[in-house]
Amino acid sequence: AVRVRFAPSPTGFLHLGGLRTALYNYIFAKKHGGSFILRLEDTDQTRFVPGAAENIEDMLDWAGIPPDESPRRGGPCGPYLQSQRLALYAQAAEVLLRSGAAYPCFCSPRRLELLKKEALRSHQTPRYDNRCRTLSQAQVAQKLAEDPKPAIRFRLEGEAPAFQDLVYGWNRHEVASVEGDPVILKSDGFPTYHLACVVDDHHMGVSHVLRGCEWLVSTSKHLLLYQALGWQPPRFAHLPLLLNKDGSKLSKRQGDIFLAHFAAAGFLPDALLDIITNCGSGFPENQMGRTLPELIAQFDLTRITCHSALLDLEKLPEFNRLHLRRLVGNETERRQLVGKLQALVEEAFGSQLQDRHVLDPAHVERIILLRQGHISRLQDLVSPAHAYLWTRPAVGRAQLGAISERVEVIAKCVLRLLEGPSTSLTQDVLNRELKKLSEGLEGTKHSHVMKLLRVALSGQLQGPPVAEMMVSLGPEEVRERIQKAMS
Ligand code: GLU
Repeated sequence: AVRVRFAPSPTGFLHLGGLRTALYNYIFAKKHGGSFILRLEDTDQTRFVPGAAENIEDMLDWAGIPPDESPRRGGPCGPYLQSQRLALYAQAAEVLLRSGAAYPCFCSPRRLELLKKEALRSHQTPRYDNRCRTLSQAQVAQKLAEDPKPAIRFRLEGEAPAFQDLVYGWNRHEVASVEGDPVILKSDGFPTYHLACVVDDHHMGVSHVLRGCEWLVSTSKHLLLYQALGWQPPRFAHLPLLLNKDGSKLSKRQGDIFLAHFAAAGFLPDALLDIITNCGSGFPENQMGRTLPELIAQFDLTRITCHSALLDLEKLPEFNRLHLRRLVGNETERRQLVGKLQALVEEAFGSQLQDRHVLDPAHVERIILLRQGHISRLQDLVSPAHAYLWTRPAVGRAQLGAISERVEVIAKCVLRLLEGPSTSLTQDVLNRELKKLSEGLEGTKHSHVMKLLRVALSGQLQGPPVAEMMVSLGPEEVRERIQKAMS
């Protein structure tokens, strides 16, 4: 069975890069009827960020790609926090010690620090000199008496096995001749990444490891560990980098890339999933507007290429517009959007509301239907350009008089126009009637009539088409606003 995992370290909140790794894992799992596991790699206690673990799982839920097994949900291979699995790592380290594939290291932090400094001084990459590798049994026994909790190092020896990465093809990295023996278990009993990752992937029955390509080189080390432990390794598929449009690293400096930021700003999870898959490979073609079920149906791991994915976040509003429109078209979703917009309006305008009726679900829904396709986020409907929908503008007679001297007669004509049966006042009818109205008033420019109405209704010089504004406000309210502005 396919079992994949997303294994972030809770050293920060979930961002777009992490979401992408999680998403490919999720899609691959669902495509093959498998399981998607969330495992938190929290063994580096010095880099722990409070709230990060909760945020990661919250955001996966928000994004609509919830794990099947996780710290919160549990599952058959739990616990899913590495800090709660220390016995398993100790057990594996013990096996390696017994077979001679690992050894205790008694080097003091001071000695390791000196080694590092020396290497840097001579412009070499620091590496452990494997000093404790050759200690005799007697020496080990003697040192153990003084230091009963040494670190454990893995003997990096021999040729790493070649492996066929499902994205990058055949690979083998000469780790043994390049690196010093790595610590796999620290003296405090915590494992380092390599051991913990291998032990967990094995015990959790992970079939495929889909992770960022920055881990490609480590894979050789992992395979040596699998070999030494006598375990069958999973398949590997390393994912190319996700970068900014200009090829620079996707980082916080480029603006906010955290999911919580996008959620708060009113972007839809589907829009984010769409944009981060659209800029990369793994699909027969790239097209905008795909939903998660479509992504799952079209995904093909063998189509992932080694090319970096370049993310153009400036296109996100357009992705969001498409997905928002799709949701508006679905009755259940639309009802939820109405609730969300009501809350946004309440929050943005509260006491300044024209009256409570503007929050009527039917009214709010009508506005969503009228504005869909023109807005990218629901939030846009509480922007200054849309404030007229919820509050009455403060517009004075003088302001209108500056637009046209004939404001009086124009207002009178418009008010008369509104006396007709309100059911027939569609945008088309209004546009036609207003045009006629301007033509009937000699020396009056149509553009002035429209500008006058726009200002009287919204207090703004820009916004949606005037006829649409009139339809969304309704004839009663339009009349009110015109009369108030003229008084
Ligand atoms: N904890 C590693 C990370 O934060 C996981 C790497 C892996 O998936 O093996 O990226």
